Amino acid sequence: MTSETINCSTLPSTRDDLFLGIDVGGTNVKLGLVDASGIVHAKAVLATLDLVTPERVCSAAIAFADRVLSSSECSKFHLAGIGLAVPGVLDSQEAVLREVVNLPEWRGKRLQDILDQTRDLPSVVVNDANSAAYAEHALRSLGNKSLALLTLGTGIGCGLVMKGFPYGGDHGCAGELGHIKIRFGKDALPCTCGKKGCLEAYAGSKGVIHQLHSLAKISNNAEVESLTATNSITPLDITARAKRGCGLCNKVIDQTAEYLGQAIGQMAQVIDPAVVLLGGAMTFGGSESKVGQRFLAIVKSTIIATTLEEVGSNLQVEFASLGNDAGVIGAAMVAQQVIPS
Ligand SMILES: [Zn+2]
Repeated sequence: MTSETINCSTLPSTRDDLFLGIDVGGTNVKLGLVDASGIVHAKAVLATLDLVTPERVCSAAIAFADRVLSSSECSKFHLAGIGLAVPGVLDSQEAVLREVVNLPEWRGKRLQDILDQTRDLPSVVVNDANSAAYAEHALRSLGNKSLALLTLGTGIGCGLVMKGFPYGGDHGCAGELGHIKIRFGKDALPCTCGKKGCLEAYAGSKGVIHQLHSLAKISNNAEVESLTATNSITPLDITARAKRGCGLCNKVIDQTAEYLGQAIGQMAQVIDPAVVLLGGAMTFGGSESKVGQRFLAIVKSTIIATTLEEVGSNLQVEFASLGNDAGVIGAAMVAQQVIPS
């Protein structure tokens, strides 16, 4: 256990049932006991390397829930269901991970069976991007409306909630927005997926640094060129420099916003969601900073410029609210859906 927090006695709750959310990543497993309104009553973080297999992760998660619920502070609550959020390509019919990076022991295993064997309770397996999107959707009380949550960072992920339900597609690949093509010519940049011209190659963190490098070269900015050539600059540095008025960094952020707006526009034109949220580590300061606000404004104006009037002008585009806890909250809240009424 790397950290554990219990707040049962300090939080208001009208109901006694809590749901266990398990959010599995390559580095950490996040756990949360969450009530029906999405409030986290207890949470913990475990190191994935200490547990390795899904069987051991599920056992450790249940042990955490039992320990918390047997404490005097939380004794009025009981465990009503379990939600397991996993990265990668999830076959939701079989609850099997078909493709996943950094979790070799998880691939091909029947995760629903493992949950059922760990504790006989209603439970569900969901993709982590979709569970995070579900938490943001619930927070906004969107009912049967649709929402997309983009996670901006090294890669560009996208979780979908369609008409009120997490949506993974028939092959577990719905919402792979990072691999929408935004450039088609011979010069289109190569992507980690093996294809060319994907959004991720331009607007993922490496793509952003590549853009800055190209601009620094054209404008003979030796200082920025050397920083980008040695990979000693990060998107956080780019944000900090942009805030201090660096023209090149501001230009790169504007271009990144345009690339994102183009891809989101294509997605919005197809699924026509009510809300699109931008989250993850690379939001250029987010709503708190002028740089982040301009980034969001350019994403919005690009969507409006590239979609039908009814699609772009009705689409709400905002920064995400829940941060790192979204996956665990969403997993717990999806678990509520599977409880027989
Ligand atoms: Zn790609």
